[in-house]
Amino acid sequence: MAKVAFIGLGVMGYPMAGHLRVKGGHEVTVYNRTSAKAQAWAAQFGGRAVATPREAALGQDFVFACVGNDDDLRQVTIGPDGAFAGMAAGAIFVDHTTASADVARELHAAATKVGFGFIDAPVSGGQAGAENGVLTVMCGGDAPVYEKAEPVIAAFARACRLMGPSGAGQLTKMVNQICIGGLVQALSEGVHFAQAAGLDVEAVIEVISKGAAQSWQMENRYRTMNEGKFDFGFAVDWMRKDLSICLEEARRNGAQLPVTALVDQFYAEVQKLGGGRWDTSSLLARLK
Ligand code: NAP
Repeated sequence: MAKVAFIGLGVMGYPMAGHLRVKGGHEVTVYNRTSAKAQAWAAQFGGRAVATPREAALGQDFVFACVGNDDDLRQVTIGPDGAFAGMAAGAIFVDHTTASADVARELHAAATKVGFGFIDAPVSGGQAGAENGVLTVMCGGDAPVYEKAEPVIAAFARACRLMGPSGAGQLTKMVNQICIGGLVQALSEGVHFAQAAGLDVEAVIEVISKGAAQSWQMENRYRTMNEGKFDFGFAVDWMRKDLSICLEEARRNGAQLPVTALVDQFYAEVQKLGGGRWDTSSLLARLK
């Protein structure tokens, strides 16, 4: 049993922190910007809610975070009353935010300088993965630090792996998002075509999902897509944030991402349709 803190009790963080308490059996302190959520978490799981990230980090073995983007992460770590000011020497900060590799390296360097560990550890598996404690966690950082963090992360993970030095977790998550973007566009075009051709979409998917066109997105999203419902997971606003991180990194490393760039623009159109909070399968909506 370790002393841990969790910063950012959103869709993902709230259940992840819950697993640290219930499954991991750890002593958990929470911080959330909107304090009512932290109070609710503490009442539900039996932990301590505090007023600042710095206070949350004081005296902990591990501090976890899952906030929105690079700027949010900087605010809760190195901003005023940020967690880094409260970290003890030898403690470990594990960041589950999907952010840039740059900010991971910047915070890793800041942490190393004052003697505590930092692991970038973005996740995949969505809200259901967080609630069921079966996330995939892609990590970057120093091996001895990672080895100490992995058994604690296990409370909410089905798979967890060190991918390389600081930033490698975020780079791996970028690959994940690049693979999803083009695939969802292709699935949208397939469903759109089937509808236009007057086919029975259910029957079409039932057949083709047994063959080479099969994908997680196909199996889990085709039905709601066919019904024009887009309220089932990862939001377009978040996806655009992630794709912009991928495109910026590709400008630097020279990778060519023509389809990813196009799909990013398609998601911009979905946002204009009012779909910023729709799930990523809403690429279909702009084909109508
Ligand atoms: P969310 O529900 O919007 O929660 C975001 C959390 O971060 C909230 O607790 C929010 O506090 C806090 N926060 C944001 N900006 C902050 C700031 N400047 N200072 C302090 N706290 C701040 O988001 P989420 O769905 O949990 O996603 C969190 C991260 O996981 C994102 O990077 C996202 O891309 C990634 N992710 C999400 C999914 C998914 O399916 N949702 C899947 C994989 C990865 P308040 O409560 O005060 O707003």
